[in-house]
Amino acid sequence: MGLLRNSLCVLALSLLAASAGNAATLLEPTLHLKPQAPEGGGRVALTLDACGGKTDTRILSALVDNRISATIFVTGIWLKRNAAAVEIMRAHPDLFELENHGGRHIPAVDTPRKIYGISSAGSPDAVQAEVESGAAALASAGGPAPKWFRGATAEYSPSAIAMIRKLGFKIAGFSVNGDGGSLLGAKETARRIGAAKDGDVIIAHINQPTHAAGEGVVQGLLALKQKGMTFVRLDDADGIGNDGTTD
Ligand SMILES: [Zn+2]
Repeated sequence: MGLLRNSLCVLALSLLAASAGNAATLLEPTLHLKPQAPEGGGRVALTLDACGGKTDTRILSALVDNRISATIFVTGIWLKRNAAAVEIMRAHPDLFELENHGGRHIPAVDTPRKIYGISSAGSPDAVQAEVESGAAALASAGGPAPKWFRGATAEYSPSAIAMIRKLGFKIAGFSVNGDGGSLLGAKETARRIGAAKDGDVIIAHINQPTHAAGEGVVQGLLALKQKGMTFVRLDDADGIGNDGTTD
């Protein structure tokens, strides 16, 4: 019995080691803007994910009212259910760039596993379908073809990164996690976003109107604007990503 228990323990440990090894192969790439001349007030790129669900109009209105530019990563699911918000974004092409967050918000990881409780695409074909269906949804919504992709959870297997690059997309990492997946409080979200520096790429969410984080997103952005920070979209700046995501 003792022997059995021991070998079960060894088995459990090796399974643990295998899954830890597996986990280590997932990448969460960073993205920065090329540093600007020191005399400027600095510039940041605001990226907002629209994973599914609804639209946080607190954020959308603040962006329009304060003329803050943003790159919005939309899924096919979100596009279908948020026509009014899409219309507002399309009406301000100088402010909003819409990019590809996948067709169904499935992590671009080509082996089966769970990331933050979401099942990965699980195969190369499924990663490709997620990327291409996201682009197709944007095309059928009548906008310019997307050039950037950000997968659900912003984590990738290295082979998925190579495939997405081959499909013609740059991969949008980030350098400031503004809202912790929209789960942070307003105060902490405002603090993180307000602390962004020249060259940072901020990630937050625009699809959780009931979360306190959205209020913090607005406060943080207004603080940055007050400091003289310029907001650029990903297409307006040379983003430099690691892990082979942009080069
Ligand atoms: Zn998402």
